[in-house]
Amino acid sequence: MPAEPEPKFVVDRMLGTLTRYLRFMGYDTTSATGLEEGNPKEDTILLDMAVGENRFLLTKDAELARRGGDRAILIAPDEVIAQVRQLIDRGIIRRRLTMSRCSICNTHLREANTCEIEHADYAPKDWRNLSFFWCSRCKKLYWNGSHGKQLEKRIEALRD
Ligand SMILES: [Zn+2]
Repeated sequence: MPAEPEPKFVVDRMLGTLTRYLRFMGYDTTSATGLEEGNPKEDTILLDMAVGENRFLLTKDAELARRGGDRAILIAPDEVIAQVRQLIDRGIIRRRLTMSRCSICNTHLREANTCEIEHADYAPKDWRNLSFFWCSRCKKLYWNGSHGKQLEKRIEALRD
C-alpha cells in the first residue's frame, strides 16, 4: 500500500508557535511571517499558496478559513498543544517528533559534523547521549534535549 502523502501547511501570522511545532514534528510548513508585512492582499497570497503548493491553510481568521473552503482549517484553541491536538484529532497529522526541519526556516536538518558542533558556542560541552543536527541555511545547531526534550514531553502528553 503506498504511503499517505505527507500533509503540508501554510500558516497565518497568528500561529507562529504552531508553525515551529509542526516543523519539529517534521511537517513542511510555510509561514505568513516569511512574507513582507502589511500587504493588504496577504490573505489572497496565502490562499494561492495553499492551492498552488497543495498545502492546508491553517488560520485563526474565520473569514479566511471560509474563503479557503476544504483546504483551510480554522484553528480554534489559543494554546499550542491544544492546536496540535486539534490537527491530530482531525486525522491530519500524527503525534510524533522528528526534529527533521529547522523551526525557523523549514529547511531539512542534516546530521551536524564535529566542526559545526565545536564551533557553536551554545552547544553543550558534554556530547554523550546527544544527537546534533544542522540547518545549513540558518547555520544553526540543534540537538535532542535542547528544544527536543520539552517538546517531546508535551507531544507525548497528547496520548489521550
Ligand atoms: Zn534554518
